[in-house]
Amino acid sequence: MDITDMAQRIAAGERRALARAITLVESGRDDHRAQATALLAELGVAKQALRIGLSGTPGVGKSTFIESFGLMLTKQGLRVAVLAVDPSSSRSGGSILGDKTRMDLLSRDPNAFIRPSPSQTHLGGVARRTREAVALCEAAGYDVVLIETVGVGQSETVVAQMSDLFLLLLAPAGGDELQGVKRGIMEMADLIVINKADGDLKATATRTQADYAGALRLMRKRPQDPDGFPCAMTVSALEDRGLPEVWERLTALSDWRREAGFWDATRSQQARYWFEDAVKTALLAQLDTQAARTALAALGDAVAAGGQEPAAAAAEFMRQLQRET
Ligand code: GDP
Repeated sequence: MDITDMAQRIAAGERRALARAITLVESGRDDHRAQATALLAELGVAKQALRIGLSGTPGVGKSTFIESFGLMLTKQGLRVAVLAVDPSSSRSGGSILGDKTRMDLLSRDPNAFIRPSPSQTHLGGVARRTREAVALCEAAGYDVVLIETVGVGQSETVVAQMSDLFLLLLAPAGGDELQGVKRGIMEMADLIVINKADGDLKATATRTQADYAGALRLMRKRPQDPDGFPCAMTVSALEDRGLPEVWERLTALSDWRREAGFWDATRSQQARYWFEDAVKTALLAQLDTQAARTALAALGDAVAAGGQEPAAAAAEFMRQLQRET
């Protein structure tokens, strides 16, 4: 594979080259891994897209929202990429974006690029590959990259590590359900959007928004928000209402953060996070050789039989591992 040629095609905005490159970063094969690393290095730090993380429980309206929101952006002439981190795909083998009926219109839009979540055994692996896919989409000149995840806790943290802005999508609900959203997730959000503010649900949505606006004001003040806390808004993804206001809010916030220096600070911190993540992955891979597995089993047996102390055996293992490499 000609990496330089591929990089040029990606930079020229060729969708097929982008799709192939994402397949490459998703591959578990060692030679593919090396090519993917070379490709990412060749592409370097590209133009900055606005990376928006989006999370919400199943049924809250994520795909409906992404479809309406994405179409609104492509109508404005923006190019939009949609990626996903699906913590359940490892178990089910499926993926949240796998269903072809989701985002039907957006998937046919020439200015949109939709990619389902890679299937992987570990959330960490999915996250790293998605982070690299984000970088590829950025190199391909997309203006906005939406990264979707299902709200189960852990996956929000990794999506937040690859997003400039994090949007939490919620359904209209009674006040006591506010407690259901983990505090840590709320603290991660840059914008809380109550969906389904239409028909019978409209009044409840407005009340839910007021509840969250109140709760957000009680949190510790955040320097990365001009007002000190994120805001809560209502939309109807189905009826296409409130979406321009969400976009306005997100762009205003990102402009303000660029001015105030938070944008660059966040990106640097994230780059460091993914560097350390790659180091950890590489170190873990060292445990996955035949020699390492044999040594681990042998020393493990000795420890289990009471013949060796765990810490001493671990130190011995590390010595053996270093001799190997
Ligand atoms: P996801 O699982 O979070 O991706 O949710 P979906 O986008 O698949 O939506 C789940 C259900 O909620 C579907 O039946 C949608 O038609 C419905 N839905 C999504 N957005 C809205 C909305 O703004 N208003 C109403 N009333 N229903 C919505």
